[in-house]
Amino acid sequence: MLPDVGRQRISDRIASQAREREAALRIRRRRIVTRRDGIRCEVDGHWLANFCSNDYLGLSQQFAVTGALQDGAAQHGAGSGASHLVSGHHAAHDALERTMAEWLGYPRGLLFGSGYMANLAVVQAFLGEGDVCVQDRLNHASLIDAARLSGAALRRYPHADAEGALRQLRSVPDGAAMLATDGVFSMDGDIAPLRDLAVVARVQFALLHVDDAHGIGIVGPEGRGSVAEARLGPTEVPLQLVTLGKALGGHGAVLVGDAALIEHLAQVARPYIYTTATPAAMALSSLEALKIARRDGWRRERVLHNGQRFQARMHDAGWAIPASPSAIHQVPCGSDAEALAMAAALEEQGFWVSAIRPPTVPEHGARLRVTFTALHTEADVDALVVALRWARDAVAAGYRAA
Ligand SMILES: *Cc1c(COP(=O)(O)O)cnc(C)c1O
Repeated sequence: MLPDVGRQRISDRIASQAREREAALRIRRRRIVTRRDGIRCEVDGHWLANFCSNDYLGLSQQFAVTGALQDGAAQHGAGSGASHLVSGHHAAHDALERTMAEWLGYPRGLLFGSGYMANLAVVQAFLGEGDVCVQDRLNHASLIDAARLSGAALRRYPHADAEGALRQLRSVPDGAAMLATDGVFSMDGDIAPLRDLAVVARVQFALLHVDDAHGIGIVGPEGRGSVAEARLGPTEVPLQLVTLGKALGGHGAVLVGDAALIEHLAQVARPYIYTTATPAAMALSSLEALKIARRDGWRRERVLHNGQRFQARMHDAGWAIPASPSAIHQVPCGSDAEALAMAAALEEQGFWVSAIRPPTVPEHGARLRVTFTALHTEADVDALVVALRWARDAVAAGYRAA
């Protein structure tokens, strides 16, 4: 029998999409790192200074953090052997959930394999058809995907616009509502207007969820993140996402929240239930990383100091870039091609900076995303600015990415 008329072959479809991506300079290439030593990375045989890592506090290679991972694996194994609700839930997971919740002033925590899964869990556990999830236009992809998968209506508001959030909530007056935002925005480095959003959520009976993947460890008192910075807590922000793979240098995520909400998640969230528990060794290593993040205030101060020095040096160079109170800074580029050429010119001088193109950022939003860590020195920051100026002149003179 012939297939239904109109059936498309997947192989044809992806071939034409690949051609379009190529024409639009949207092919993404994975770079292979063979060695890493602090901010120095060996990439395709060349050593580069890394300015595109989220290991903000420099903890991923800190000896006590890696030591806890090694000891944990020796004692408890490389894998956890089962999901949390079967036999994979270990005392180390419990300790990490409690320690994280206590640090942030929340009643409970729940450990997930990744921040992406935690966001899927949150929206899916609390919303379904007939409900609405209102989100900032620049929220992380995991929150957007979470709303799509939940079956709830997704309504987005202009970036950091609390009145826009209120309008979107009002436009869907029935059903349950969630207002979800990044705390620190992953591509722009700015902070959401959390106090205003908390008011909007309260008057609209919406559950406010803040994804602070890039805020925890960096902003706020003791690095307790953007919610603490805004002097808010579990009453106003009943759910908050802390990822372990960024400033804490590990892997996984902890959702902290109101006790009833967290219990509901543990009972019904499919991305929590139907997946193997994070290795206990990883949880022990994250506990160690959290201890060091709290003890070594200098790490956070160094990240912020490096960022402010970068802003000042760029300003001295007459180069206007958006201000940022976090580890994430951006150098806007005129086009995708310019962003790629700038990144290539920087790499030629030994600097690894990522060119961020749509769809990761809005159309016409191509940029270099520059991140600073506690391991960068002032000399590293200054050298980057010199290299950026060279790259800008080279690109203006016709330099193109190979
Ligand atoms: C990285 C990130 C996530 C995903 O966390 P993973 O643990 O890497 O899956 C979620 N939200 C934001 C804002 C992020 O930057």
